[in-house]
Amino acid sequence: MKLGATTVLVGERNGKYPEGNSLLVAGSDESILVDPSVAVAEGRVDVPRVDRVLNSHCHEDHVAGNGRFAGVPWHFHEADADGIRSLDGLMAIYGFDGQIDTTWRRVVLEQFHFTPRPDPTPFRDGDVFDLGGGVRIRVLHAPGHTRGHSFFLVEPDGVLYLGDVDLSSFGPYYGDAWSSLVDFERTLVRVRTLQARWYATFHHIGVLEGRDAFIDRLDRFAAKIAEREARLVAFLAAPHSLDDIVAHRFVYRPGDAVLFADDVERRSMQQHLDRLVDAGRVVEVDPGRWIARAR
Ligand SMILES: [Zn+2]
Repeated sequence: MKLGATTVLVGERNGKYPEGNSLLVAGSDESILVDPSVAVAEGRVDVPRVDRVLNSHCHEDHVAGNGRFAGVPWHFHEADADGIRSLDGLMAIYGFDGQIDTTWRRVVLEQFHFTPRPDPTPFRDGDVFDLGGGVRIRVLHAPGHTRGHSFFLVEPDGVLYLGDVDLSSFGPYYGDAWSSLVDFERTLVRVRTLQARWYATFHHIGVLEGRDAFIDRLDRFAAKIAEREARLVAFLAAPHSLDDIVAHRFVYRPGDAVLFADDVERRSMQQHLDRLVDAGRVVEVDPGRWIARAR
């Protein structure tokens, strides 16, 4: 799919995880590959000459194909750059413990072809890559999913690449050690103000044309946060522990076979619990058990 200077390299199953949709942006001087997917890693999509790799954030599925471009600079937001420097650096972003950490290391190496590199090139909010012929990529720091997660605005075509603000029915993911619910919400407010012609995500939603289609999807995506929180308040009509909350499942569905589901559930819902306590809507009835206040 071609959007002006940008070609979307649509992955298998339209880029549904673990696949993804990488972008190739070609100016008159340089071509930049954004978020090389696992299909790029495995040679399942054709990629012509690439002068730089740009990563929206350091997660296994977005950096899978970086290793195929060892001779060119890899650019990351400065807050995520440690994740590509070593496998330990990447694992710190997730923050899994024990056996899950051990298993996930193997998955990242074997299924996502993780290739560390000691010298990534950091970028910051507002940085611009000039590809020649009037084609530019502007960095917009959009933290929350990870600390360094960033959008890329391709000009003059007006392609806004949203990375893992992926507009999916799953909703926002803020379950890693380097995630933040509060930052994600700020990012969701900011993204509403951005004007573009096309809105592209890494995963299966793909490309939306026009702001109305984007805002419609964005509102449904963002609403998942309030839905999770409302379900938590309802669950806490009776006192429950964080273990009970994890077992009940608010982010994943009961029975979803995801290796790290409990960790993600715990970290995501702890953030909701903390702010409900701060707001006085939930109280700790006895140590480690919380209840919602009657309204
Ligand atoms: Zn991600």
